[in-house]
Amino acid sequence: MLNAYKNKTDVVLCFASETELAIHHRDEVHQRRVIAEQFAGVGWRTAELLREVEASESFYFDKLAQIRMPSWSKGRVVLVGDAAYCASPAAGMGGSLALDGAAALADAMRLHGDDHVRAFHAYEEALRPFIDEVQAEAVRVGLETLVPRTEEAIRARNAKTGHEF
Ligand SMILES: Cc1cc2nc3c(=O)[nH]c(=O)nc-3n(C[C@H](O)[C@H](O)[C@H](O)COP(=O)(O)OP(=O)(O)OC[C@H]3O[C@@H](n4cnc5c(N)ncnc54)[C@H](O)[C@@H]3O)c2cc1C
Repeated sequence: MLNAYKNKTDVVLCFASETELAIHHRDEVHQRRVIAEQFAGVGWRTAELLREVEASESFYFDKLAQIRMPSWSKGRVVLVGDAAYCASPAAGMGGSLALDGAAALADAMRLHGDDHVRAFHAYEEALRPFIDEVQAEAVRVGLETLVPRTEEAIRARNAKTGHEF
């Protein structure tokens, strides 16, 4: 994917893996090698883009992941934002969810005063349905947009968004 804005172009290379890859999040040499291997010989402008990636000083590698916790609190500890319900960057909603979560927790704590058990329960009960919805949408729309599995799906995505990826 080429994403151009403000005199700058991001080169984005996404791939799907059936298994969890053992890549340390700080091992950039390995990450660069994985990208080069995954996209070797795949056609389109990939060879040119791989050369850009090789020369890039702002290389960033990550996996699209979600956090789904069975409970958002334990004792006096309560989670907000990515730690509790990361919806994946593909959703473009992580910042909003962290703020919505903090606001929902503040509301619950104000309502229940010193009773943190009830406050944490109320926070989770109020917000979880919305989080479930956002996470489901992130998988459905996010993955279809970023890593369509077939040529046909790529064409459908391009037609829908009006972009050439
Ligand atoms: C590439 C990328 C693009 C994204 N694009 C978007 C976007 O367009 N729109 C959007 O809304 N969201 C986007 N997000 C998601 C968004 O950045 C996150 O969802 C959001 O920052 C989550 O906020 P948070 O406060 O929960 O966690 P974070 O912002 O991760 O904050 C957690 C903080 O805790 C600190 N920390 C961790 N461990 C410890 C420790 N042991 N002790 C003390 N401190 C610790 C960390 O250093 C960090 O500062 C994107 C994310 C990525 C990675």
